[in-house]
Amino acid sequence: MFVINYFVINYYICINEHNKEDNMTANSDLKKKFRATKKWKTFRESFNKEKDFITLKKLYKGWQLHHLDLDPDNYDNLIVENFIPLNVQTHEFIHWLYNYYRTDKAVINRIQNALERMYNLNEGE
Ligand SMILES: [Zn+2]
Repeated sequence: MFVINYFVINYYICINEHNKEDNMTANSDLKKKFRATKKWKTFRESFNKEKDFITLKKLYKGWQLHHLDLDPDNYDNLIVENFIPLNVQTHEFIHWLYNYYRTDKAVINRIQNALERMYNLNEGE
């Protein structure tokens, strides 16, 4: 009985994972399609003169417009306040960090702790 349950549960998990992957592929196709529209390109272009929201450095070729609203249903909902322009590395960084932050906000404090200690060891007099 345990073996059967194990098999059924595993099968169920696999099906769900596949659906998730299919949804993700469908989503990224839709996103790609949307980013090819005039509406998106014009919207993105309106941020062109701004700086990287996090580093305040100038935007480099290939900069990305990060949507703060991660709900795929809102992807094409172009509310200016919900977007920030980021260079590629900053964009990767903020998504990476958010994965931890969403369930553990104190990750920010530990990063600051590490940065302060690095600063004191390396920049202190
Ligand atoms: Zn993003």
